[in-house]
Amino acid sequence: MRLGILGGGQLGRMLALAAYPLGVRPSVLDPAADPCAGQVCPHVRGEFDDYQALYQLARSSDAVTYEFENVPVASARWLAERVPVYPPPTALEVSQDRLSEKTFFQSLGIPTPPFAAVEHRHEFDNAVREIGLPAVLKTRRFGYDGKGQVVIRTPADAEAAWEKLGGRPLILEGFVPFDRELSVLAVRGRDGQVLTYPLVENEHRDGILHRSLAPAGDTAEELAERAAEYAGRILAELGYVGVLAVEWFQDGPRLLANEMAPRVHNSGHWTIEGAATSQFENHVRAVCGLPLGSCAAVGHSAMYNFIGAVPPAADVLRHPGARLHDYGKDPRPGRKVGHVTLRAGSGDELGDRLPEWDRTFDRV
Ligand code: AMP
Repeated sequence: MRLGILGGGQLGRMLALAAYPLGVRPSVLDPAADPCAGQVCPHVRGEFDDYQALYQLARSSDAVTYEFENVPVASARWLAERVPVYPPPTALEVSQDRLSEKTFFQSLGIPTPPFAAVEHRHEFDNAVREIGLPAVLKTRRFGYDGKGQVVIRTPADAEAAWEKLGGRPLILEGFVPFDRELSVLAVRGRDGQVLTYPLVENEHRDGILHRSLAPAGDTAEELAERAAEYAGRILAELGYVGVLAVEWFQDGPRLLANEMAPRVHNSGHWTIEGAATSQFENHVRAVCGLPLGSCAAVGHSAMYNFIGAVPPAADVLRHPGARLHDYGKDPRPGRKVGHVTLRAGSGDELGDRLPEWDRTFDRV
């Protein structure tokens, strides 16, 4: 079985590494000369709308997936006429636009923060009045890691936000005074089987994921079940195949959907060491039509991202049980270049060790 992957970043590399032991031969398409995943598998160089490159990938693949949700939907559809493409391109289409994504959640009865579409100034003024402050103004498309969004707390902020983002398709959302951010990863096989990983607790810094704890601490069983049930609705509606991530705000007993990613996700990196089957392996299994593996957590895990630069390996590996993932990317401010996962046998042990790990892996 040959698996083509659109996108050759670290997610592509981790997918490729998970594919080989299953007898699946990966290759990636990426515009970069030397993409991260190119370190470990064949690389077709081309833009995501370069049809010659897409044709080359289709010809050398039995199935195609993606690790990057801004792949043009037209390219995914074109490929899908030639080779099975999972997750379905409709999932890409929904998740590329924050407005269609939130509207889709609503249509499935999944709660979201209040939101309104905004393009022209009068719509912005109406939306601010309707939703109230504080609020967050976001671009509808191509926003990630906190980019393309501004928090509005005062009327003066509203002016500044409009100045910065106004005139393109936007969404205004009510600012959620959340207790914490959570994510759920679920996987659906070609045969419709659905499995869900335990809820993950995520801490962001400057809009970028800093730390994930899994399973999320102090989680009521009911909350985890609700998140899994909501994810299941999305998977079923889309006829989805592969891993899906949904990010949530927890506000008291409420769970509000922020966004979804139709791919493996940073908040699931802990599953490489911390779950019976990693998100990468389960994604490959699903897309290739293989039976899924258990999503059960093995102990309790903490994952820290390295942003900008990876610390010296010796400093990381000094911590008993620390597992380092250096993506081999050039250091650059704000760039995800690696992560570390640490495991504890119990929630109590994790609680004991966390202050030290937090101090060590706090971003400098
Ligand atoms: P996003 O790109 O939409 O995931 O937003 C990045 C981060 O900004 C989130 O992880 C939250 O920490 C914060 N954020 C985004 N939207 C909201 C909101 N409506 N209320 C409060 N915080 C938000």
